[in-house]
Amino acid sequence: MIKTDILIIGAGPTGLFTVFEAGLLKLKCHLIDALAQPGGQCSEIYPKKPIYDIPGFPEVLAGDLTKNLLEQGKQFEPGFTLGERADTIEKLEDGTFIVTTNKGTKHHAPVVAIAGGLGSFEPRKPKIDNLEFYEDKGVEYFIKDPEVYRNKKVVISGGGDSALDWSIFLADIASEVTLVHRRNEFRGALDSVEKVRELKLLGKINLVTPAEVTTIHGNQNVEGVTIEKEGENILLEADHFIPLFGLSPKLGPISNWGLEIEKNAIKVDTLDYQTNIPGIFAIGDVNTYEGKLKLILCGFHEATLMCQSAYKIINPGKKYVLKYTTVSGVDGFDGSRKEAPKAVVQAIN
Ligand SMILES: Cc1cc2nc3c(=O)[nH]c(=O)nc-3n(C[C@H](O)[C@H](O)[C@H](O)COP(=O)(O)OP(=O)(O)OC[C@H]3O[C@@H](n4cnc5c(N)ncnc54)[C@H](O)[C@@H]3O)c2cc1C
Repeated sequence: MIKTDILIIGAGPTGLFTVFEAGLLKLKCHLIDALAQPGGQCSEIYPKKPIYDIPGFPEVLAGDLTKNLLEQGKQFEPGFTLGERADTIEKLEDGTFIVTTNKGTKHHAPVVAIAGGLGSFEPRKPKIDNLEFYEDKGVEYFIKDPEVYRNKKVVISGGGDSALDWSIFLADIASEVTLVHRRNEFRGALDSVEKVRELKLLGKINLVTPAEVTTIHGNQNVEGVTIEKEGENILLEADHFIPLFGLSPKLGPISNWGLEIEKNAIKVDTLDYQTNIPGIFAIGDVNTYEGKLKLILCGFHEATLMCQSAYKIINPGKKYVLKYTTVSGVDGFDGSRKEAPKAVVQAIN
């Protein structure tokens, strides 16, 4: 059982900034995300796009914003459960919560902050009989740790950036990489397409187009796949089959948690972004209220106010006096200390 003060569902920009604001209040956070990496939409959909409306940053790449948020929160030692979807919630008699993921990992916290954005990103799956049987037995929809594929035979299917980029990356790690796509043309970045064609000429990627994986073989684990290419069946040995057909967001199981939902978003009180269930908050793109804007800076504001109420729930009767970080400095949980400049402290005192 993972125990924490604030359990954050969703490691997008809103969830990541919550770690910092909670840390200032000496509250510890743990984040669950269905994706294999933190950053939410910023890292999954547009990591290389510049954002122009983050206060203080005239221009910042979405991927760099994620990196900076992780760096800013690092001193408060957040925990992560990645590649797992929060599925069920149980309220205990003492008012605390247990959240369980689709992989059975249990988390216990007095406060739950849903920062689930558009919902958990679910992989689009190809229509293949028995696909589910081979999940985690050689069929994977995300690549969490490329080392898993060292010296293995890997079949990747898809025509976008993910399929191209991972084929290129794994060409140096796996013993054999086969990229299968149902068209001859790819949707991904031009330089990635060129690189794949280059690696094909060097014999480092086996490119099969226009074709589709139609069957998976193997007793317990994936041992091979059948690829249909222009009416012909090709049987190929494989240890892993990785369909990378993109992700679609779904509010999913959270919509069954008894929360008030309006147009696929969670209704909140704008006082502190608490939902209709005391102790459960919803912040960032996942919530709705009059005048709601789905912007990163709005998520940051909501996270900040939410943490104040979380503090009161976790420390009943204790008063918190807001202090500027320029005055108080920042005490990390890892023993680090960022001092407030003496001149500022003197000027304010
Ligand atoms: C192309 C594009 C450009 C954009 N440009 C801008 C811009 O210029 N400026 C701006 O302010 N905003 C922009 N946005 C919007 C911005 O990205 C969102 O407002 C922001 O990402 C919301 O952050 P979030 O943390 O609330 O949610 P998200 O970033 O959506 O993250 C939510 C996370 O929660 C996870 N999750 C959800 N449910 C579960 C569950 N049950 N279990 C586990 N994990 C779960 C998801 O996997 C996801 O990683 C843009 C969006 C797009 C798509």
